[in-house]
Amino acid sequence: MSILIKSGRVIDPANKIDAVLDILIMGDKISQVAKNILVADAVVIDAKNKIVAPGIVDMHVHLRQPGREDKETVATATAAAAKGGVTTVLAMPNTQPAMDCPQSIELLQKIIKKNAVINVLICGAITQDRLGDQLNDIVALKKAGVLAISDDGSSVDSDAIMLQALKDATQAKVLTICHSEDKKLSGKGVINLGFNSTRLGLRGISNESEYKRVARDIELASKANAPVHIAHVSCQESVGIIAAAKKKGIKVTCETAPHYFALTQDDILDYDTNMKINPPLRTKKDLLAIKDGLKNMTIDIIASDHAPHTENEKDIEFDRAEFGKIGLESELAVSNMELIDKNVLSWPELIEKMSLNPAKVLGINKGTLSVNADADIIIIDAHKEFVLETKKIVSKSKNSPFIGRMVKGLVECTIFNGKIVFQNK
Ligand SMILES: [Zn+2]
Ligand SMILES: [Zn+2]
Repeated sequence: MSILIKSGRVIDPANKIDAVLDILIMGDKISQVAKNILVADAVVIDAKNKIVAPGIVDMHVHLRQPGREDKETVATATAAAAKGGVTTVLAMPNTQPAMDCPQSIELLQKIIKKNAVINVLICGAITQDRLGDQLNDIVALKKAGVLAISDDGSSVDSDAIMLQALKDATQAKVLTICHSEDKKLSGKGVINLGFNSTRLGLRGISNESEYKRVARDIELASKANAPVHIAHVSCQESVGIIAAAKKKGIKVTCETAPHYFALTQDDILDYDTNMKINPPLRTKKDLLAIKDGLKNMTIDIIASDHAPHTENEKDIEFDRAEFGKIGLESELAVSNMELIDKNVLSWPELIEKMSLNPAKVLGINKGTLSVNADADIIIIDAHKEFVLETKKIVSKSKNSPFIGRMVKGLVECTIFNGKIVFQNK
């Protein structure tokens, strides 16, 4: 089947294209990008006044399967992703069992093959059961199909093990992704340390617990001459440390998530546990530093850190509730409102950070609308406003801090591998 997308504003940062064009899809590939394409027998999608862009590559997603199918499954998460304009996700390894051996990877691959409606890539664990004690066989994980390794949810405390992991990962040509958190410093904290933690009577998490570990992870990567990717950057000091490391030529990339440029600790005043996130929502000063980092290229990537939890795990006291929030269905709209409407980024720059850059960092051939590229394409109505409602959430868990908010920027259609996997009706 061929699909012809007519008269959309085609944004393809890889080829520096931002123009009104048609795109012809033949089979699973992009066959032509030009003005006024004429074909006899294609399904025509009118994209007039809409944005046409490569599908989002979200490199930080918790699918929860295998093990916690009560929170989310590959089927529900990938359906949510398709609705959010996401055509590739990198699945984090903190499943049950953890993705720490080829057998577990194979198990998940089978589930993906059967249930996923978009592209799902797997991130292996750095250490056995993500406990930080015993380094996994990274070459074996690579052979089983992982593109990256991380103990996300935890940081590897031992310098020696982390250094060896970076060396092994580089040799195996997989990316090391760091959840940079010094647990000795963050302890039992549940919210950003500051005025609000005192006022609400909740234990605080300092910026120090993040940026000291960011500095350590970068130092070890530099020692190993290994590329390193810092996950969910949330505070001003981390942005500064990463900027300085980039200046020195250290191979560091990083991501932030929409909640760190859309929300602050001041949004938690009513003890909304959907705002309980790790790292925590910080201050206005940190939020502005994140926006600056996105603008000045220190922060390469926006990823959701989609972290579904059941109602039982969230609808309880703030201290006891799980950390994390869902984000696949809102990341584009929230980014549009906070970054494009507020003149932090242009549309091509946003697409670069949500699609092209993560594809480059993961070393995959995605994130572009080049001729012969995989036909992973989204059509966005950038001006369409809508309220995020619980009943409309496709994800199995509903723990979004944006529920009830008016957002702007609706995904009208998501095409993956040349097939329409989501269409707004
Ligand atoms: Zn993490
Ligand atoms: Zn995570």
